[in-house]
Amino acid sequence: MFDIASGFDGAAGTRETLSLVAGELPTGEPYLIPVMVINGSTGGPTLLVHTGMHGDEVLGAEVVRAVWLGLGPDDIRGRLIMVPSSNLPAMATRTRTNLSEIYPGPHDLNRVFPGDAAGSLSERVARIITDQLLAVSDYCLDIHTPSVGGEWMPYASAPAPGSVDADYGQRSHAFARAFGTTLVYAGDLFAGTIQDTARTLGKVVTTVEFGEANRFDPALMEWGVQGVRNLLIHLGMTEGSLVAPDAVRTFSRLHRLRADRGGFLRVAVRPGDDVIAGQRLASVGNVLGAELEVITAPESGRVVRVNNNALAGTGDLVVYLGADS
Ligand SMILES: [Zn+2]
Repeated sequence: MFDIASGFDGAAGTRETLSLVAGELPTGEPYLIPVMVINGSTGGPTLLVHTGMHGDEVLGAEVVRAVWLGLGPDDIRGRLIMVPSSNLPAMATRTRTNLSEIYPGPHDLNRVFPGDAAGSLSERVARIITDQLLAVSDYCLDIHTPSVGGEWMPYASAPAPGSVDADYGQRSHAFARAFGTTLVYAGDLFAGTIQDTARTLGKVVTTVEFGEANRFDPALMEWGVQGVRNLLIHLGMTEGSLVAPDAVRTFSRLHRLRADRGGFLRVAVRPGDDVIAGQRLASVGNVLGAELEVITAPESGRVVRVNNNALAGTGDLVVYLGADS
């Protein structure tokens, strides 16, 4: 049931906005979680579209805005719940995390799910999202972009083969593919993500990654809007035809390749490039022009993410390489 106690009305055929209060910042200002709801005129499933977990990943908020402006209650069966940004304090500082949190924070909000009502502020935010939004939803889409300096090949995630029961796995893969990416990652998750919690609760969920931090790309925004529409069509929540690629590549391993040395970073590949084992992906050089390190592909696969920063230090992520199962 939709949680009326949270302050939502939930009446069929209406739209409503509300800000959930998760606590207070050191300034005394409330930590607000803005929520936009389209209550369809007729019954159907509930889809939660969540974005802005990381404050510098703002493209999803623009996708949510366009979906909100483009759809009304008469266009929807069921309920569409959207969170344009669940980390406004981090958005204000254009950073991934809420910098006002002190030790042992700042926490990565997408590593503390399902949250803790008596924990840190981030844990309380996660708990509210889990209990008041995720728990009342049947499906969940979580939209991300890379952090500053990173660039993704758009992909959607789905459970690793054998990690979930067959029916749930099939429905999850179909949901992920419906968004419209040409890549689907079916591999291990970080612990503490909203996706992790959604799966535990039996919700069909996908996380999509596209775009760049702190930047609105109009074409990618439109593409993301179509992705949300695709999911609504896939779930029978709205009318229309899916706009999705014919060929989708699934990878089950994601190599997060890091620099060992520090200096100027030169990346030799682009997101979406297919590479072979041993191929040069990037190098690190010093200020005198010497090449200190070459980072190569551990196996054949497709470049999923690159680091566009001109500088790298030891341990910095340089290239993500997706490999087939
Ligand atoms: Zn993110």
